[in-house]
Amino acid sequence: MRDGLFIDGEWVAPARGGSFPVIDPATEEVFAHAPAGTAEDVDRAVRAARRAFDEGPWPRMSGRERAAVLRRIADGVTARQDELARIEVRDNGKPLPEALWDIGDVAGCFSFYASLAEALDDAEEAIPLGDDRFSTTVVREPVGVAGAIVPWNYPLLMAAWKVAPALAAGCTMVLKPSELTPLTSLELGAIVAEAGLPAGVLNIVTGTGPDAGQPLTEHPGVDKLAFTGSVPTGSKVMMAAARDIKAVSLELGGKSPFVVFADADIEAAVEWIMFGIFWNQGQVCSATSRVLVEENLYPALLERLVAEASKIRIGDGMEEGTLLGPLVSKGQYDKVLAAIARGTAEGATVAGGGRRPAGLNTGYFLEPTILTDMSEDSFVWREEIFGPVVCVKPFADEADAVRMANESRFGLAAAVMSKDRARCDRVARAFRAGIVWINCSQPTFTEAPWGGYKQSGIGRELGRWGLANYLEVKQITAYETERPWAWYIK
Ligand code: NAD
Repeated sequence: MRDGLFIDGEWVAPARGGSFPVIDPATEEVFAHAPAGTAEDVDRAVRAARRAFDEGPWPRMSGRERAAVLRRIADGVTARQDELARIEVRDNGKPLPEALWDIGDVAGCFSFYASLAEALDDAEEAIPLGDDRFSTTVVREPVGVAGAIVPWNYPLLMAAWKVAPALAAGCTMVLKPSELTPLTSLELGAIVAEAGLPAGVLNIVTGTGPDAGQPLTEHPGVDKLAFTGSVPTGSKVMMAAARDIKAVSLELGGKSPFVVFADADIEAAVEWIMFGIFWNQGQVCSATSRVLVEENLYPALLERLVAEASKIRIGDGMEEGTLLGPLVSKGQYDKVLAAIARGTAEGATVAGGGRRPAGLNTGYFLEPTILTDMSEDSFVWREEIFGPVVCVKPFADEADAVRMANESRFGLAAAVMSKDRARCDRVARAFRAGIVWINCSQPTFTEAPWGGYKQSGIGRELGRWGLANYLEVKQITAYETERPWAWYIK
């Protein structure tokens, strides 16, 4: 475990000293401490990133040279996959196989953006003009110093979704992980140093949102802010960005629908519904937390869902066979329990789960929970709960399903299941959401764009869209003829 912040290639104590406890949500015990960064540390980190950008080699290297470093980072992550995954389990609570999957994706993300960095060397583009006296070339350049703020649900993966494309583009950056899960981000500091990333290119400051996150959003030395987290914090980040006209990309919350038609295979539907809401304890921005089932399938599907959900093995993420770990923190646990209580107070029925599992008296454990009978304007139907809680509702016909699916202030993801592929395609296009799954829920690919409509965010991460977040576009136009311009001087 690291006890320093990673600034300018070195491990340094926070300016005001101090640390904060990191709690294992399966045992409720403090198992580590992380350095408590504050505005002074953020300032030091931004200055280091600024120097590395304005004077250092990184933005001036070719894409191929940067790609070599990115590949070494990917190798470093792969070499430590098991260790990093185990830290993630203790930090976040997720089952070990999920954490191993996440860390595999982290390495994949660095490899993918290494290839995109290489392609940048050949990305100059001649623009055909309607005037042959001029030639115009478009070049892409790094946007500058990026400030990245990430949440706790996929600690290192959410960091990689920002760090890998930013580094590929030639940016330098300051990363602020969540105070609930700071440890793997600090390990990334050690990995990038071993991979030969020049000092100051990636700086990592741990600390709370108000103490370390906010100063980063307000720092005049930052050119671009990339944020993943809740809507209220995203709104604050955008307001801070507005003051200095910083570029901003936001990946925020969701309340994503999953529409299941009556012709769907019931076993496949139950499997994907559960994967869509119980993976990572439902603490997934794109979780399909509102399930809409065609009326004549509804009773049978609900019965199968309740039966299967009750069999999910709950326990410490380190224990073999665990499929559902604890929620990340006491705060999140209380929030999810309060949402269930509010749901029932407003008329919802708990069709399955809803309680602390028998025999698990310590740790933030909750049974997989299925709510029914809620109204469309109830809290549980409209708001993100961010826990293993799914709301299930019947619908009458396709138009009814699409209307209910789209009636949300969020628009991150949506899913549809039917044997009728034409109907799936029609509904997929009718969804007002940035990510749509047909006959599945949640599969995520580094190559494909990720982000939401409406209050779910601004911009896209992953794929070539993720790289574009960190690139400026410059046109260079030349006057190519000897003929005088002859406007003033005839
Ligand atoms: P959060 O908004 O509470 O915190 C996110 C990050 O912002 C943390 O690092 C936190 O320290 C920091 N922060 C808090 N206050 C700040 C401030 N005033 N200024 C700057 N930074 C501040 O969110 P969370 O609880 O960590 O994460 C859960 C949320 O993240 C959910 O709403 C979820 O949907 C969303 N999320 C979205 C995606 C996506 O890709 N769209 C992915 C994962 C999580």
